[in-house]
Amino acid sequence: MKILNNQCKHAFKLSLIMCGALLSGSAQAFNVQAHTQQQPIAIAIHGGAGTITKANLSEQKAAEYRAKLAEALQAGYALLQQGQDGQEAVIAAIQIMEDSPLFNAGKGAVYTYAGEHELDASIMHGAQRNAGAVAGVKTIASPIKAAQAVMNQSVHVMLSGEGAETFAKEQGLAQVDNQTFNTERRLKALQKAKQAIADRQTNLVKFQDYKFGTVGAVVLDQYGNLVAGTSTGGMTAKRYGRIGDSPVIGSGTFADNDSCAVSSTGHGEYFIRYQVAADICARMAYQGKTLTQAADEVVNGVLVEAQGSGGVIAMDSSGNIAMPFNTEGMYRGSIDIHGKISIKIYK
Ligand code: ASP
Repeated sequence: MKILNNQCKHAFKLSLIMCGALLSGSAQAFNVQAHTQQQPIAIAIHGGAGTITKANLSEQKAAEYRAKLAEALQAGYALLQQGQDGQEAVIAAIQIMEDSPLFNAGKGAVYTYAGEHELDASIMHGAQRNAGAVAGVKTIASPIKAAQAVMNQSVHVMLSGEGAETFAKEQGLAQVDNQTFNTERRLKALQKAKQAIADRQTNLVKFQDYKFGTVGAVVLDQYGNLVAGTSTGGMTAKRYGRIGDSPVIGSGTFADNDSCAVSSTGHGEYFIRYQVAADICARMAYQGKTLTQAADEVVNGVLVEAQGSGGVIAMDSSGNIAMPFNTEGMYRGSIDIHGKISIKIYK
């Protein structure tokens, strides 16, 4: 009975009616097919948090962001509607944003101090808490796809640098020149960052000024699976093989069907130190907090106190969505369990 109850709780391929039938032994089990489609599905995505205000974003640019977020949401949602596993929806949504120069992931990724792009990505599936990540990769066309391959096709969780690239090649994943990720806008940001470093005679740049646009997705599929994924170019002018939170499971990405799925964006060092994604889910699991309470406590409480800027998108097993951020804006959007689409940029 415990196993059955658990199955029902996770709704693994079973409708609630099926669960009721299994538990009561009644003939209602025949309704499974008809009701499978009624399992709640939902998706939420982000395209980065930061000093995003109406004053520094033109109407036209804002419209471009909204259109791209809508495209990513719809791509992921369509797969959920077709009954695909949540990981496929996360990949589809993130790949659209990786391919867009608007975001700091894939094409449009920020530059390192050395003038290259080093990309990080991770994905976690909440059913078994399987996870995969790549860090500091330079020639993998879709880092999130490589993270998925690590999760599904390797015995490891995180691969980095050249080893990750060899693995991706062996998996038949598309490879590109590092310059493929170049954009004029991010090059200008690098030049500005280097100037600031020289002016301040420091090897650090003020975080707020030099990032934006990490991308992420969280979904609830019709089997009750929560899945989260994140992909980024990291921070402008990063050096010394710096890896942020995005590929770190528990910091940038976390998913557990028993609690929640989270994808983070913001000053990675703080998200690692405060284990932001896992902490939100732990507050739900161990303290009985709601998703909104847990996400808000961590983003607007713990992080603000620590002066860590950023935000998260989070979803629970009922498809509730929370998207708190402590910056001026966060590119974000969702399609909730009622099919209602919402896309926002500012506070
Ligand atoms: N969290 C990312 C990092 O620190 C950057 C971002 O989300 O904007 O690498």
